[in-house]
Order: sequence, then C-alpha cells, then structure tokens
Amino acid sequence: HIYTNRQLLSILFLYWEVAQKTLNGSQFYSYSVCNVGEREQDNWLRTTFIQRRPSASRVMVELQFVVRDCNSFDGASLTCKETFNMYTSEADADVGTTFRKGQFKKVTTIAPDEITRKNLQPVNTETRVVDGLSLKGFYLAFQDIGACVAILSVRVYYKTCPATVKSLASFPETVAGSQALSKVDGVCMENAVSEKVPRIYCTMDGEWVVPVSQCQCKPGYEEIKEVCQECQPGYFKAAVPSEKCELCPANTQGTGYGDAACPCTPGFYRAEDDPPTGPCSGLPGAPQDLQATTQLSSGRVLLTWSPPGDTGGRADLTYSVECRRCDGAACQACGEKVRYEPASTGLTETRVSVSQLDAHLNYTFTVNAHNGVSAAASKASPRAHGPPSTAALTTSLQYTDPPTVTSMRLDERKPTSLSLSWVVTPRHRAPPRSFRYELTYRKKDDNLNMTTYTVLVLDRTSVRVSDLAPATTYLFRVQPITEGGAGGASIEDEFKTLADGNTNFPALVLCSLFSRRNSHSRQGPEDAYFSTSEQLKPLKTYVDPHTYEDPNTAVLKFASEIHPNHITKQKVIGAGEFGEVFRGILRAPGRTEGPVAIKTLKPGYSEKQRQDFLSEASIMGQFSHQNIIRLEGVVTKFKHAMIVTEYMENGALDKYLRDHDGEIPSIQLVGMLRGISGGMKYLSDMSYVHRDLAARNILVNTNLECKVSDFGLSRVLEDDPEGTYTTSGGKIPIRWTAPEAIAYRKFTSASDVWSFGIVMWEVMAFGERPYWDMSNHEVMKAINEAFRLPAPMDCPSAVYQLMLQCWLQERAKRPRFPDIVSLLDKLLRSPDSLKTIADFDPRVSIRLPSTSGSDGSPFRSVSEWLESIKMSQYSENFACAGMVTMEQVLHMRNEDIKNIGVRLPGHLKRIAYSILGLKDQTSTLSVFAM
Ligand code: AMP
Repeated sequence: HIYTNRQLLSILFLYWEVAQKTLNGSQFYSYSVCNVGEREQDNWLRTTFIQRRPSASRVMVELQFVVRDCNSFDGASLTCKETFNMYTSEADADVGTTFRKGQFKKVTTIAPDEITRKNLQPVNTETRVVDGLSLKGFYLAFQDIGACVAILSVRVYYKTCPATVKSLASFPETVAGSQALSKVDGVCMENAVSEKVPRIYCTMDGEWVVPVSQCQCKPGYEEIKEVCQECQPGYFKAAVPSEKCELCPANTQGTGYGDAACPCTPGFYRAEDDPPTGPCSGLPGAPQDLQATTQLSSGRVLLTWSPPGDTGGRADLTYSVECRRCDGAACQACGEKVRYEPASTGLTETRVSVSQLDAHLNYTFTVNAHNGVSAAASKASPRAHGPPSTAALTTSLQYTDPPTVTSMRLDERKPTSLSLSWVVTPRHRAPPRSFRYELTYRKKDDNLNMTTYTVLVLDRTSVRVSDLAPATTYLFRVQPITEGGAGGASIEDEFKTLADGNTNFPALVLCSLFSRRNSHSRQGPEDAYFSTSEQLKPLKTYVDPHTYEDPNTAVLKFASEIHPNHITKQKVIGAGEFGEVFRGILRAPGRTEGPVAIKTLKPGYSEKQRQDFLSEASIMGQFSHQNIIRLEGVVTKFKHAMIVTEYMENGALDKYLRDHDGEIPSIQLVGMLRGISGGMKYLSDMSYVHRDLAARNILVNTNLECKVSDFGLSRVLEDDPEGTYTTSGGKIPIRWTAPEAIAYRKFTSASDVWSFGIVMWEVMAFGERPYWDMSNHEVMKAINEAFRLPAPMDCPSAVYQLMLQCWLQERAKRPRFPDIVSLLDKLLRSPDSLKTIADFDPRVSIRLPSTSGSDGSPFRSVSEWLESIKMSQYSENFACAGMVTMEQVLHMRNEDIKNIGVRLPGHLKRIAYSILGLKDQTSTLSVFAM
C-alpha cells in the first residue's frame, strides 16, 4: 500500500523548490532546498492529506533523497547541515493549505548514509515507521534546517498479512499491527470442522505464524489440495481425525459419494462390539466330523467334532449342543437331567462330554457353531439373505449298558496255574466285537508296598493263569473294557494254587528251551550264569580293577603299554566322557600296522579321573572275544593318557541302524544280535555284569560284526546320557534296565539279559527309541504293570518271543545268554523260522507316541494326525486314497499304508505304530498277554 506520486509533496512548501533533476543518468522530479550559507533555516515541505485505512495504525515511510557534502561549500561549513527532520500531524479531515507548525510532531531526524561528493550523487533510501495513528488521516512534513537536500520520493505504506487458507481454515487479510503478534480468528472451510475456533497470528512484518486449532474434513470427506472433497463411491471416512477415505472393508459396500461408513453386504453382519469401520463377517458353516464315542461304564458320550471349514471370517467361534432322545418314534428334548461337561453352550473346545444318559434310547446330538455375529444375524430382519443362523450335523447313538461280570469260577487248579472263567450279563446281547476283559491279579498276602500286579487283557471269558507259586492264594479281579473307554463293574475273587507236586511249566514258545534251567540250582556267583555244559570247565573270571590297591598296577597287568610315537591320530570320530575319540593308525614294532580308535583323556583331569579312564582298559584288557571290542594297548607313561582299541568303521550300532532303516534283512539283523549275544555270553561267563548294554554301546565294523564296548567303572554313573538318577542316588539308563536293578540295584547277568532284550528290540526296530517318547517314569510304571514293548514291524515272531522272555519280571525265569546264543543260532540255521512275523497284536501294545493331540484331544483331521507324527509329507497320499477321516485311517492295515505309497520302512513303521496306538488309545496301555 503505497501513497506516492511526484505531486504528493507539491502542495505546500516553503523555500523548497520542485525541479527536474538528472541523477546518475535518470530524470527525477525532486523537491530540494539548499540554503547552506544562511543561518536559522526552517524550511518546511508538507504532503497532501494521507487517508488512513482504519486498521492501519502503523505506516512505513520510505524516503529517497540526496544530501550534499557541507565541505563542498566554501565558507559555508559553519551553517551547513547534512540532516533534515521528518514530522507528522494527524487530522480527521483535510485541512487544505492551512499549515500550523505547532500541530506537527517530530518523528525522526533523517541523515544520509552517503552524501554527495564531487559529481557523485548517491541516492539514500531510509524507511521510518510512524506508529500509533488513530485519526482518519495524517500529513507528513519535512523540515530543512540548512542542508542541501533533494527528496526524490516518499513512499508511504502499511503492511498486511494477506487473506489465506491454512489447515482448511480461511483467514481474512489482516493489517499488521503494532504488536509483535496479533491474533486472528479464522473459519473452517466448507465441509471442514474444528473443535475450537481456528486461529493464527499476524506479525508486524505481515507474516502469518503459529496456526492453532486446525480444521479437518468432516466424516465422508477427505482433504485434497486444501479442499474437503467427498469420498469416492466404495470409500468411506468415519471419523473427523482420519485423513484419507479408505476402501470399504471386507463384506461391506458403499452407498455412493461421501460415505461416513460402509454398511454390511447382505448376509454379513457386525457384532455389537465390532468397530463400525471394520469388516463385516458371515455366519459360520456347519461343524464337521461330528462323532460320538460311548463310554459304556458311565452312561457318558463323548462328542467331538472339527471346526467348520468356514468360520465366517471370525475367531470367536463357539459351539452349542442340543440333545434329543427318541424312544421309538417319539422324540423329545433331553431335558435337564442330561449333564454336559464343560457346558452345553458357549463351548470353545470342539468336544463335550454328555453324561447321565439312559440306556436303550436313541440320542441325537446336534452341534451348532456360533460366532460373534450370530446374535446380530438373528436380530436382522427375517427377510435378510444369508445362511441359516446355525449349522448342524447330527449323529445318532444307540447307547447300551456295559455288560457286567457277575461271577468268577475256578475251572482247574494246579500248583503253578489256575484256570478261571467268568459270567457276563446281560447275556442275551452279544458283547461288541471289541470287547475285552482286564484280569488283574496279585498274591494275596504280599506286603502291600511291594505288591506286584499282573494285568492281562483278554478277549475271552476264560483264562489259564500260569507261572504262579504253588500253595499260594491269589486275588483276581476281572473288569470288562471296551474300545470306547473303561469298562463296567468288576468282580474280585481269590483262589489258591495246589501245593507243589508235579511242576507244570508254562506253555510258552521258548519254554522247552529254558525250563531245563529252572530246576537247576545255579552255581557260581549270583551275578553271572553258567551254562550247564560249561559248568565243569574252570572259568576265567573277570577281576575288578578296584581289587588292586594301585589301579595303575591293574592297567599294566591287563594292558600293554604303547609309545605315543607309534600312534598317529587322524580324525575325531566321537566324544567320550573323558575326552575325544580319534581314528588313527598304530605302527608299533612287532604288530601289523592298522587303523585303531584312540580314546584320549582331556587335559586338566584329576588323578581319580585318570584312574577311572584307564579302568576301562583294565577291564577291556581282560577280555578276548570276537564280539568284545579289543584293546590294543594304553599310553600311561606319558602326560596324555590314551586307550587304543580296534577300529570299528561303522561306529555305534544305534546310529548305524537308524542310517540304514529298512535296508537290512531280518536274517542279518538276527545275525548281528547273535554276535552281541555271543559277546554277552562271554562276559557273563566271566562274571562280568555290563549294566549299560544298549545299541549305542555296541560298535559295528565293516563286516557288520557287532562288538560290545563301553566298559569302565564310572560309565553308567557318568558317561551315558541315558543315565537317570534314581531315588537311591545311582544313575541308571531306565529304559534299558531291568526292574529289579532299578528298584534295588540288583545288577546281574539276568538284568543284562533284560537289556539285551531291549537291544534286540532296538535292532529289529532299526534304532527306534525304546518306549518312544514315554517318560522314564511312565516306562517304569508301565513295566511294573506288566506292559511290554510291542513287536517291531516285520519282526519275526520267534525273535519277539525271545524279547518277551528277556523281559520276564522274575529274573530267574529269563533265558541266560548261552540259551539266547543257541536259540539265535538255531534261528539262523533255519531261516524259515524267521518267516512268521509277529503280529501288531493290539493286545500287546503300549502307549505310542502321539496317539492324540498334544492336549490329549483326539485328532481332528488326518493331516493334523500326520503332522503330529511328522509324516505330513504323506497328507496327499492319504487324501488321494480317500482316507479323509481318522475313522478310516484306524481301519488301515499295513498293506494299505504301503499301497497308498508309504514305501520307506521307517515311515511305514511310524505310521503303522501310530495307528496301532490310536486304536488302543482308550486303554492307554495294554499288556503282554500270555
Ligand atoms: P565311548 O566313549 O566309548 O562311548 O565312545 C564315544 C564314541 O566314539 C562312540 O559312540 C563311537 O562313535 C566312537 N568310538 C568309540 N570307540 C570306537 C571304536 N573302537 N571304533 C570306532 N568308533 C569308536
């Protein structure tokens, strides 16, 4: 805003003159005065009346002028000035030419920055502020007091902050005030809102600063280029603070331009607490695979199902169960008598147990799936499209009483056996095919703390219980059990065996072979067995290195010293308890050069550790047998003690078998077992009890010869990772150890035989872990309850029978190693004897890995089951073969599993075992039945 023109100043001047000047090449009108030689100059030049905009109380005055140097006037320097003054006078109206000096107030003295020297006439520009104006207008006046000055221009202006739009608010043009910041209120633009009045500040310099309280587009509008524009169709903006319109969420649709929300598409709903901006969801589909399992004893039905394939896109799935009972054609709701565990509605798990059902009725159970929008959907108008509010599957169930065992009868009595039978009611109804009886018995007068229960699972109502003690009273209990769960009422009775007269041996497959031994009293130390044929031979006996006062003497007695220079270590092949195990070469004078294994003692050992380390050599050095690892010698006279043994190329047996799962024919496996049994017979002959016989402690060479290794005094205690501390403080590899050795540390060759049975199982199962993932505690409990490992797949029946013999509770009845050697020899001589394969007999089963989901619930799908046994890669094979429910899977035979393309023996085995386990799931464990 400039008030300026060349005439502006022409109205009133005293001694000032108007002239056209040429300055620095340009033409200017100027008002000038130059009375430098005269005293007391007071020459005024006044502007016309300058109308003031009411709000412009502060104006700027910009002057362009030229001042001459007083020194350029000879003799005038006394009176000559180089400054002039600026005055102002306010008025409400133009006073014309009336001029009264006294009405003017001095604003400032103006001095040039540069003055004119010689011919140079620099133009000065100075700006001064005139503030605090309040009347309608004002005059400016310039007072010359004796300078030589020419004013070229006067610009009078004020500053404004221009009209603007900031943050969707518009602010008017505002004159910059005399305060640093003046507050300016604005208004939100169209379709924008703000909580408080939008505000901004205008500075003295006409700049907008510090906007506060912004405007935002209202719902349905978004800001595009500082304007609130409607959301496009299919987009919405629900809240003021959101910036942009968003795409309508899943299962919703827009209504047109400017949507603040997107309503659900028909058939989809929002639950009450769903955000109105979120997606809508549908109703769940029907629950799948609804199955009812009866638990006969308790009037209980277990309903299980799988979640619906379509959850409506929600996670808040619940289920409710309806029960209807039908007596003939008349059906009605089950009513309140029936109990549901955990509840009949609001179920989050896919199972419910229904109890207090009556017998002989047809029950129909309906399971409905609900989700968060079920309520909203049923509120919606009946004309609303969409699926029904519930989906259901129905299963019917004929619920019957479990048969009850009513009486037990003694059919035959002998010194070591009793034949029993029992009567079942109701008789008229044939018990289901899957019906079995659990017969539990124990000696009547056993000390209760020490009672041994024997449990047999039978599919007949009679049994001959053998292996009993003569003239002893036994307590028997029979309980019916079904596939669906535990059984009905049990009955208990006691019967006594006859006094010993003529001993009857149990009619076991291997009995004829071993019974001979039973009647002989054994000779020699308790801890080892002697075969009758060898009894007369004087036997070399193993000497415990501990019997030597100085264990170093023992080492030297049984092992030859090797100079370390004769040993070359080549490669680490394993880690022993005391240090690394190397493969190397032994080049000692007088010996054939050859590969050896070198066990080292790691530095920092104590004397005790050194002795323990070398004790293995003291023991090994006493043995010389094809199937015992051979000691080559020891290094004891040098700092780094070493034990040098023959080198076994194929390493530990368990790993070797796992690496060759299914590749080795049975006869060869039996051959390996024969070797091990030979080594064990040798050890037992020497009265050496190994205590840690396990496939991991058998080494295999290139000829697949198996040799027993891992001797040494501390090994069971320290070395074996399988070792578990027992209550008595010792460390015992539970799953390989006989019960009496676990219970009261009775380690004998008979307990080694038990371990050999486990090794047999490991070998026939290609290195499978005995008892799979059962805990040590579960293993001990199971063994104590007469449960035994089932036959490995494709295991010759005779071999499995031998295992079972090795695992007889009573250690005296177990075969001895010489018996085992001769039986295995016999089997190897007539390979046909290996052709009969032991059954996967469900009566001889054991709880298997992953018989149910991790929470104990049944598997909901075949793929879930396969995943749990890490066999997911076969999901497609099962699906393609139409095996889509667990029910179907349970009926698969080994042949079927092979046929759908599971070829690898290990996998086949894993799957078959798991199915076996699933079948027997309800009885959890079962029994080695005689
Ligand atoms: P050990 O301390 O005896 O259990 O040995 C540890 C590991 O070293 C074994 O599991 C084998 O893998 C390996 N090893 C020990 N002795 C021999 C041997 N004589 N020949 C080959 N490997 C052996």
